[in-house]
Amino acid sequence: MAVDSQLSSLISPAGADAVMNTYRRFPVTFTHGQGCWLWDRHGERYMDCVAGIAVCSLGHSDPVLQQALSKQLGRLQHVSNLYFTPEQGELATWITANSPMDAVFFCNSGAEANEAAIKLARKYGRCKRGIEQARIITARASFHGRTMASLSATGQPKYHQGFTPLVEGFHYVDYNDFPAIQQCIDRLDAQGPAVAAVLLEPLQGEGGVQPGDPGVFAALRQLCDQRGILLILDEVQVGMGRTGQLWGHQHLGIEPDAMTMAKGLGGGFPIGALAVKRHCDVLQPGDHASTFGGNPLACRAGLTVAAELKRRHLLTNVQQRGEQLGRGLEELVVEFPRLCAAVRGWGLIQGLVLREGGPGAAQVVQACLQHKLLVVPAGNQVVRLVPPLTISGAEVDTALMRLRTALGGLGA
Ligand SMILES: *Cc1c(COP(=O)(O)O)cnc(C)c1O
Repeated sequence: MAVDSQLSSLISPAGADAVMNTYRRFPVTFTHGQGCWLWDRHGERYMDCVAGIAVCSLGHSDPVLQQALSKQLGRLQHVSNLYFTPEQGELATWITANSPMDAVFFCNSGAEANEAAIKLARKYGRCKRGIEQARIITARASFHGRTMASLSATGQPKYHQGFTPLVEGFHYVDYNDFPAIQQCIDRLDAQGPAVAAVLLEPLQGEGGVQPGDPGVFAALRQLCDQRGILLILDEVQVGMGRTGQLWGHQHLGIEPDAMTMAKGLGGGFPIGALAVKRHCDVLQPGDHASTFGGNPLACRAGLTVAAELKRRHLLTNVQQRGEQLGRGLEELVVEFPRLCAAVRGWGLIQGLVLREGGPGAAQVVQACLQHKLLVVPAGNQVVRLVPPLTISGAEVDTALMRLRTALGGLGA
């Protein structure tokens, strides 16, 4: 204990011991950032291909976001949802104008957005299908958050361990397996309607950067329409331009009935949202709430990210830089065939799939850190790269060069 805290005081800032130990943190303390770069407290510079886990869409210390938030701080910060604010109305209008959705509920995180979606699904099932105990189908290897219902929706036993009993009513199927979903629905609906919704990520992020199959989602869309089941998409990680389209479902050629978003929406300021089509807008006053949800500061952040996506043509940048990054990663697979197996992803969410039996994702991430490149695991076998959407061609090359050096050090 004494040795441990001595060691941690060498690598961590004062106060680290006072923070609960829920994360296995890297021994680095970042003090400032600029664009795709972060500096630690010793002045060392790191190339950031994590972006706060797909959050800092405009990079670090973006001057436009900084100015917009400073101005908002001086005007209005928080009034609660007992009243309207122009910022919330404007951001809701932007989301509905730029998606197939008709109305928005604001909250503060991805997990909260999914909580809202789960409550919506249950109430929808009750109102529209007369379901008393609503069932929701989700995928194995999914990730929907850490609150009790979003954790229960998450199809990964390792996250459930130690936290049972889970919230009831979730049923897991393999991702991209349409016959499995159909069988699951048939089984649950055998004695009358029971399934309220299917909740899926358009691309599984945390679960290994696994893109959805357009054929599967098209068939699922049709089945949900036939049965009156909601298709809800968790766009928390891939929404807001991360994939080169504004929303992940655009890669799948379908529209969800409802969708959740968070990570990239505020560019680093916490905000989450559930957006719904009119026909499933079943929540009434008193059904759901959030004190902070959609406050003027958070909505100003969202509005600024939205405006900058357009003004700086960031979707085009994501497409071009994504292609460059994907191509570079493919070259690394060819160069390091004993370490790397494949590359998966859309736009600026790319996964380098590692070979079984070799160094795992945690080891590669550690090696990259040594070479001042920040990347993040997605499961045990995939290294995930989710840089700011503003990354330049030269910066993509720098990231690839550092990754190459790190892989080289692990032995070709
Ligand atoms: C990160 C993530 C969440 C949880 O978001 P929090 O803001 O951490 O609660 C939910 N779903 C997906 C797909 C995510 O990537």
